[in-house]
Amino acid sequence: MGIVVVGTVAFDTVETPFGKGENVLGGSATYFSTSASFFADVSLVAVVGEDFPEEHVSFLQGRTIDTAGLQRIPGKTFHWTGRYGYDLNEAQTLDTQLNVLMDFQPVLPESYRDAEYLFLANIDPDLQMQVLEQMRNPKLVACDTMNFWISSKPEALKKVLQKVDIVVINEGEARQFTGEANLIKAARQIIALGCKRLVIKRGEYGVLMVTADSVFAAPAYPLEEVFDPTGAGDTFAGGFMGYLANSGDLSEEGVRQAIIFGSVMASFNVEDFSLDRMKRLEHSEIQARFASFKALTHFSDISAC
Ligand code: AMP
Repeated sequence: MGIVVVGTVAFDTVETPFGKGENVLGGSATYFSTSASFFADVSLVAVVGEDFPEEHVSFLQGRTIDTAGLQRIPGKTFHWTGRYGYDLNEAQTLDTQLNVLMDFQPVLPESYRDAEYLFLANIDPDLQMQVLEQMRNPKLVACDTMNFWISSKPEALKKVLQKVDIVVINEGEARQFTGEANLIKAARQIIALGCKRLVIKRGEYGVLMVTADSVFAAPAYPLEEVFDPTGAGDTFAGGFMGYLANSGDLSEEGVRQAIIFGSVMASFNVEDFSLDRMKRLEHSEIQARFASFKALTHFSDISAC
């Protein structure tokens, strides 16, 4: 039932049309593990520097996330600076300071290595591979990436994509990686590398899930107020993997339900800055929004008209 995740634990400086957060808690693994912790046991593999406040570690531990694999090493924590315009679908990266990520050697605690679920969140693909190689026999491995790594380490990334079951990626990144404008054709190219499923995140347009013989589309939850889309993708992935790890149901139906739970979690995360909405989220709200999602996408079969 447990999930191991490797990714970034970061300071983010983010500007949206609705405000600015400086040096706030962020990072792909932070968003993923917080979201997944609503559904399953999560074990974190990441690195921070000497400047990382203990209160952030306490927050993760308070969500019962196992932080035995969170290393603190000399230097500064990874820092991402980004901006969103009124089109909240795509972040513009202004600066990426890798800092301690450059010296990170992930060593998985013994207790992590038999976990059934592994998520390789957005981080250097060489580090994703090092973590994958330390796992014994995971039942399901999924990964994410972003334009930064597609441009800087395409070959290392390709090797990772060849070894995972599910690839979760933004639509822009699917196009960038394949050089193919049509998303379905781009999906086919990535699946041809060896994964079974591609989950394409499309911001406010929802999610497209593609396998060799099926396509499933889900909308994003229509919100009136979106404040900060940072971490929406990682929060989606956390809900998706968390639900799969909780149910253990990897059938097509089970994976489709997981897509909706991922979308539910992402819809909460964008309602406030950083992880502020996740910090006050209740299980009852998750269940209620899942029900609204079902109503949102329900329509009768033609025979019932
Ligand atoms: P997303 O879910 O795509 O909005 O992810 C946002 C998070 O990704 C932010 O909290 C950043 O700290 C983190 N991030 C930004 N750039 C990178 C990168 N090159 N590698 C890993 N994580 C990153």
